[in-house]
Amino acid sequence: MSKGRLVIISGPSGSGKDTILKEALKALPEIKFSISSITRPMREGEVEGEKYNFISKEKFEEMIKNDMLLEYNNYIGNYYGTPKAPVEKVINEGGEIILEIDVNGQKNVKEKVDSALSIFIMPPSVEVLRTRLTGRGTDSAEFIEKRMKAALYEMERAKNYDYIVINDDLEQAVQDFVTIIKADRLNIQRQNNIIDEVLEKC
Ligand code: 5GP
Repeated sequence: MSKGRLVIISGPSGSGKDTILKEALKALPEIKFSISSITRPMREGEVEGEKYNFISKEKFEEMIKNDMLLEYNNYIGNYYGTPKAPVEKVINEGGEIILEIDVNGQKNVKEKVDSALSIFIMPPSVEVLRTRLTGRGTDSAEFIEKRMKAALYEMERAKNYDYIVINDDLEQAVQDFVTIIKADRLNIQRQNNIIDEVLEKC
């Protein structure tokens, strides 16, 4: 996997990463999004094949066995994984693909693809995070507590990322995210070919 760019976005549930990504992708329409396969039940408003493919535990375990996943994790009792083939296709064609995965997924991907760019979305405070999670109204109090615990675990691992975006003001956070992607495109590691091409024309 060397030609294209793999971008990882993580952040605790309630950090607003979905909204940031949705808005940022309007400004970056050429970036592909990796659809994860997951075993958690579909929530209200979710659409099969949009962000997730909802599959059975048996099917997921078969994907693990057949080495069809780039990475996977068990998050609060459910499997979440990144199918390998679509990511490889985009990267081999020189494109960019975003993986919205958790901190364990980031660690596993970085071990395989060292050049992956990783961005962590932080809520401005734990209090704001709790208010956002409670305000959703889709999960039970017990599940919200589990998500809070998972969120603290994830935020402690934000130091392992290349960039942090604080989601205090949504518009600013979207702008920051787009800026990171655009600056990364100008990174020397990605411009070496261009330097050679320019010099060859002298
Ligand atoms: P949710 O249930 O709120 O949709 O997602 C729970 C967590 O799983 C989020 O942190 C999300 O980023 C993460 N996640 C979603 N897809 C994947 C995946 O394919 N792999 C891993 N490791 N985490 C994922």
